[in-house]
Amino acid sequence: MTHPMLELQAADTMADQLRHRREHLGEREQMQAARNALVRWDQSRKVMRQRLDELSGVIEECESKSHDLDAQRDRLQAQLKTVIAPREAEALQSEIATVNETRSGIDDEELAALEEQARIDDELTEVLGQEEALREAFIAADEVLSAAEADIDGELERIAERLEGLRAEVDKASLRRYDRLREQHVVAAATLAGSRCEGCHLDLSAAEVDVVKDEAASSGGLADCPQCGRILVI
Ligand SMILES: [Zn+2]
Repeated sequence: MTHPMLELQAADTMADQLRHRREHLGEREQMQAARNALVRWDQSRKVMRQRLDELSGVIEECESKSHDLDAQRDRLQAQLKTVIAPREAEALQSEIATVNETRSGIDDEELAALEEQARIDDELTEVLGQEEALREAFIAADEVLSAAEADIDGELERIAERLEGLRAEVDKASLRRYDRLREQHVVAAATLAGSRCEGCHLDLSAAEVDVVKDEAASSGGLADCPQCGRILVI
């Protein structure tokens, strides 16, 4: 029959492995990737909307400036009809030319803004169309992760019950020693295989083997490894 100390160690090792597996689930990486995709999606949507707002502002400003410039040009042209002196007419014509030039620059600016607006509008429509698929992918990945975690949690619960039973079978002093050793080493209790401690994988001398066997014979099959201090089950 296996010594309860070894069964205890085996159950704790299994629980360690399960906890490790739970922490490193591939399903968690997939869920995080799906969540990151959703976050990136939301960010790009915000950036696009922000740029569209900026462009609306630019277009509005261009319209307003164009309107003012048109009014200014109309005024200058009306004035031009009333002047007689060629020098005055020349000055007005030059002023009108400057206004026209400015107006043309603003037209170019507005056109560029309108083109960018149309392009981003199309991109935004496409991006908005991805929302449902991205949300569904995230929810699905989250569910898969939860199911994987629940499986492991179920196994851990069964092991916890088993551990409780096993711990009741081991005497208090040995249990305290075992718990203390578990804090230092993952493996606290090991068998002696021939002359080798399975905890530290070192060979004991013939004299040491005799000592631990005597020790085990008088203390319920348990001894200390002289090399690593782990509990040797003999
Ligand atoms: Zn050892």
